[in-house]
Amino acid sequence: MQPMSVGIMLGVGDDPNTSFEKAKSVGVDNVQMGCPPDQYFTPDAQEDLKQAISASGIMITTVFCGFVGESYADIPTVKRTVGYVPADSRAERIEKTKRISDFAKNLGVYQIAAHAGFIPENHSDPLYPVMVKTMQEIADYVVGNGQIFALETGQETAPALLSFLTDVNRGNVKVNFDPANMILYGSGEPIEALELLKDFIVSVHCKDGKWPTEDNQLGVETPLGDGDVGMDRFVNKLKEIGYHGPLTIEREISGGQQLRDLIKAKELLENLRDGE
Ligand code: MG
Repeated sequence: MQPMSVGIMLGVGDDPNTSFEKAKSVGVDNVQMGCPPDQYFTPDAQEDLKQAISASGIMITTVFCGFVGESYADIPTVKRTVGYVPADSRAERIEKTKRISDFAKNLGVYQIAAHAGFIPENHSDPLYPVMVKTMQEIADYVVGNGQIFALETGQETAPALLSFLTDVNRGNVKVNFDPANMILYGSGEPIEALELLKDFIVSVHCKDGKWPTEDNQLGVETPLGDGDVGMDRFVNKLKEIGYHGPLTIEREISGGQQLRDLIKAKELLENLRDGE
């Protein structure tokens, strides 16, 4: 794959062929796969999926983990429900992460990723050491599959994430940098965050959005180029830090509008990437 090759974040449904068709309609040859539905985990389904992938010619760069019970309705709900934060489902979610790691390995994919959930900025919060231990357990499992685990950014500030990565202290725990999330969650200026986290960034989401205007509410996601990220600054900064991974467009709507936005975003990114 070429450096900074444009791809998309691809949700997968009942029929993987339909999903890969979407990637082809956008005109990309690489995708990050959204969390696989449970029916993909049987050996037969995985064989079918491998065949569909190979027939499509599409490269899967990352498989994302997601969990039953997560809700992104507003910031307090995200804090309560997302990732490895909820104590009553943590063990089950760690197990599911391991299953996704095995599933990805079987497809020949060497990166998995997730929103880990809100990592407390205050290290004396009792949740903090639990999150560090959880991430170490996951890292130590996926390294056995030859994989890295990428934390999606946005729910905490870049300094908080950096200090968490330092405490986790595992060479295979990295960052999937989503500049829009930094804005949507009010977690800090994305270009500064990119500079701070540059040594850990293995993949990015090209997504855009507007800052929140009310407490506890998320900002609003927009088509690429219409939000507050500054796509030209973002792509230039990626070049400056020597980023070579894919430019994975994420547009969190569905239907025809999503397809149109993805096609436009691809053109915008290719122009920015290939320009001066
Ligand atoms: Mg994202």
